[in-house]
Amino acid sequence: MAPFEQILAQSSFSKEDLICLLNSSDKERLMLFEKAKEVKAAFVGKKVYFRGLIEYSNYCKKNCYYCGIRSGNSRFARYCMTDAEVLEAVDYAYRNDYASIVIQSGEQTNKAFVTKIESLLRRIHQQTDGRIHVTLSLGEQSEETYRRWFEAGAHRYLLRIEVSNPSLYSKLHPNNLSHDYHRRLDALKTLRKAGYQVGTGVMIGLPFQTISDLADDLLFFRDFDIDMAGMGPYIEHADTPLYQYKDQLLPLKTRFDLSLKMVAILRIMMKNINIAATTAMQTIDQQGREKALMVGANVIMPNLTPVKYRQDYLLYENKPCLDEEAEECKSCLEARIHMAGDTIGYGEWGDSKHHSERNT
Ligand code: SAH
Ligand code: SF4
Repeated sequence: MAPFEQILAQSSFSKEDLICLLNSSDKERLMLFEKAKEVKAAFVGKKVYFRGLIEYSNYCKKNCYYCGIRSGNSRFARYCMTDAEVLEAVDYAYRNDYASIVIQSGEQTNKAFVTKIESLLRRIHQQTDGRIHVTLSLGEQSEETYRRWFEAGAHRYLLRIEVSNPSLYSKLHPNNLSHDYHRRLDALKTLRKAGYQVGTGVMIGLPFQTISDLADDLLFFRDFDIDMAGMGPYIEHADTPLYQYKDQLLPLKTRFDLSLKMVAILRIMMKNINIAATTAMQTIDQQGREKALMVGANVIMPNLTPVKYRQDYLLYENKPCLDEEAEECKSCLEARIHMAGDTIGYGEWGDSKHHSERNT
């Protein structure tokens, strides 16, 4: 067996193995993708779960150097969806059997925001007879807030570590306590303690990031024993400090290819977690999300944000589907998923198998 095949046949990977897999040639990566596809079919099946995405607000108190909606960017309007708009999006998800939604937002920690989310969670629970599962992606919060939102009905939480290397983290964020690597890590631990299914992830192809960093990210996911992952390419945004490094970045296509490899390797390493086919992948390649599904992803997030707000939730440039209403988005995704050879788990929560197995 060739060395690459020997690595793929192993039941666990060392850091050197991961670097070799990430550096795989065009021919080798087909073997990697084939293996990831087999693992997906055997451990989570060929079903894709929908999470209706509600981009609740672009107000953000943070100033991450990569993100278009950072507080330092004043070149667009700030918005917050009304309760009626949120409940309407939830109703759409409910009527269309999505079974699950994600509420994502810029980071806000004030009392009014915390209470508002709590009351929305209770109303969502009431309005749908508890049939819609809610994932939150609202940044770093206190333990009390995480617990309040869990008690109000949220089941899962997505908080990307962004990069698992603390010194790289400090290059991508301002140097203060609200952008501290260890605080973010502690927030992930608090989420686990509070009972959530915990998802994290990284951006791929950032300035200063190396293949060795990406290998460490994969080891971080394994060691933290995550339930869900959402990873995607870093895409530059002109109104951010990191834009000055745009000429030093890997080409977009290479960032995309690396993201596919990260998804495939993670599927092989953590066989029964949920992995999202992220929107950022589709930004680079029109079939980016289908390709991610074909190499191991099993979750997709159709956008339910009212179209009038989409232009103002630009974390990165060239975000796709800015003018697509939920209905168009749904039929487009259905076709794409069938093309990828999967079926849609309508009406199913699609909870992380990894989480339920750990807890039984
Ligand atoms: N404010 C919350 C959730 C919204 S941001 C939080 O930060 O956790 C959601 C994700 O968007 C971030 O975790 C980050 O990984 C991603 N993101 C931000 N800017 C990006 C960019 N320029 N390219 C790709 N992904 C980006
Ligand atoms: Fe705010 Fe999240 Fe963007 Fe950072 S990544 S600026 S916390 S929305």
